[in-house]
Amino acid sequence: MGDAITRAVGFGGMVRVYTGVTTQLVDQAQRIHDTWPTATAAFGRVLTGAALMAAMGDPEDRLTLQVVGDGPVGRILAVADGTGHVKGYVDEPHVDLDLNVRGKLDVGRAVGKGQICVIRDAGLREPYRGVVELVSGEIGEDLANYFLVSEQTPSAVGVGVRVAPDGHVLAAGGFIIQVLPGADDKIISALEAIINSLPDVSAWIAQGADSRRMLEVLLGGEIDSEPEDLPVALACDCNKERLLGALISLGPDELHNLAAEGKDAELVCHFCRTTYYFTPGELSDLAKQAQKPAQQPGSFKQDVE
Ligand SMILES: [Zn+2]
Repeated sequence: MGDAITRAVGFGGMVRVYTGVTTQLVDQAQRIHDTWPTATAAFGRVLTGAALMAAMGDPEDRLTLQVVGDGPVGRILAVADGTGHVKGYVDEPHVDLDLNVRGKLDVGRAVGKGQICVIRDAGLREPYRGVVELVSGEIGEDLANYFLVSEQTPSAVGVGVRVAPDGHVLAAGGFIIQVLPGADDKIISALEAIINSLPDVSAWIAQGADSRRMLEVLLGGEIDSEPEDLPVALACDCNKERLLGALISLGPDELHNLAAEGKDAELVCHFCRTTYYFTPGELSDLAKQAQKPAQQPGSFKQDVE
C-alpha cells in the first residue's frame, strides 16, 4: 500500500483512530519546495497532521492547518480535503539546525513559540476556526493540545518524518487517537499501554509499517468495524484564472505600469511552485477590470496570500 490514511472505530465505539503513511507526499513536497532537513521535518509533520485531520470530515470538507511560530521556518501552512488531497508551503524552506539533545531533527526550535490555527470549512457560511498556543512546536504535542483545548477531545497525536543524509524523505506519517466521552478508565489505561510501547512513528514506517498495520497495533485487536482506507497525495487546485485575482489586487496603476514594460509578468503558486505567465495584453485588460469594484472568489485569498 502507498500513501494512505486508514480510519476505524474501536473499543466498543469509544475510540476513534486515524493512521497515515505520507512518505511519498512529504518527499514530493520536499523536492518542490526545496526544504532542508529541519524544515522538511516541520513541514512534513504539518502536512501529515492536516491530512489526518481532514480524514475526520466529509469528502467535500476542507481543513487548513496553520502553524505560526517565531522560529526560523516562519509560518507553515497546509490545506487538505476529505478526498485525500493535500497542499502546503513553508515560509522559509532553507532551515537546517543542529540535532536536539535527543539526537532528533530540532522541529521545536525551527518552529519556535507561537500559535496553531485550524480552520474546518464544511461549506457552511461560517467555517469553524480554533486557535491555541503552541506547546512545544514539535507539532504532535501541539495538535493533541489543540484537540483538548479547542475541540474538548482528549487525543494522542504522533507525527514524524525521517530524512536521509542527502535530504530526501525516507519515511513520514502519523496517527491520531481520540477517546470519546464516556470511555471508562480501563480503555484509557489500555490505550496508554499501547501508546507507551510504540516505536517512533517515522522509525515504525521506515521499518515497513503501513497505515493498516499501524491501526491494528493502535487498537490492540479491539476494532469494531472494517477499517476504511483513503489514498492521500500532494495535489494543487491552482489555475491561471484563480491567480488573476491576485494580479487584479495590485490595482490599475501598477498593472498599467507592468503592461507598459512590454514583458510577460510571472506569478508563482505558493503551494505547487507552478509559474503562470501573463502577457502585456492580458495585463492591460486586467488593469481595466481592476478599475471596477473588486470581485474576488472567496477561496482565492487563501491560495495566493
Ligand atoms: Zn498550485
